[in-house]
Amino acid sequence: MVARLLVGTAALTAGCDNPTVVRPDFAYNPTELTGGLLYRWSTGAKVRVFVEPMAAGSIDLRVAVQRAALAWNAVPQAREVSLEVVANRDAADVIVYDRSTPQPVVTGSCPFNPSGAAGYTYFCPVNGRAEKLRPVSSTVLTAAMVIRVDMTTTATQPALDALVAHEMGHAVGIGGHSPQTTDVMYTRPTVSTPTDRDRATLRNLLGRAADITL
Ligand SMILES: [Zn+2]
Repeated sequence: MVARLLVGTAALTAGCDNPTVVRPDFAYNPTELTGGLLYRWSTGAKVRVFVEPMAAGSIDLRVAVQRAALAWNAVPQAREVSLEVVANRDAADVIVYDRSTPQPVVTGSCPFNPSGAAGYTYFCPVNGRAEKLRPVSSTVLTAAMVIRVDMTTTATQPALDALVAHEMGHAVGIGGHSPQTTDVMYTRPTVSTPTDRDRATLRNLLGRAADITL
């Protein structure tokens, strides 16, 4: 009788930490690329994303980023993170640019080496936090992350949408790649809507303690 009561009390206490959200298992390892370290924004963060302007062309980076923000914003179970495309580079948390435009931030202590990558997401962890980066137009350290894409690798808007959705998946905390070709987080993604496997992986990591806070 006593033992049963204690078990009940313990379960109730555990339940109070997280009263409504039941977390799925991840479908692929979200810390594969970070040596087992889980990174994410602080819970409830509204992440401001700035897209470097470009001359109008047949495919549009800003459109791809807006679509990716909408797609990932639909995934968290309790609004642990949400992405918002903003107009001010100097107040952005994430800056996205194409290889054809100048690098918009002064990078930090970690090597910045996109080399031949179609997409490259950069942040630099220092003592458990992402180092703040200074936009070239500013004197203030603001951005935690920068994403470079190479639009010469994407001939169509759907191809660019898939590439950007993948990089934005890294931006919201997925530090791994899916082995399944149909997932957004596959190395060479062909879809821009997170699959159930992508969704489960993000939902899982958003319920875990961060080793690195962005
Ligand atoms: Zn990737």
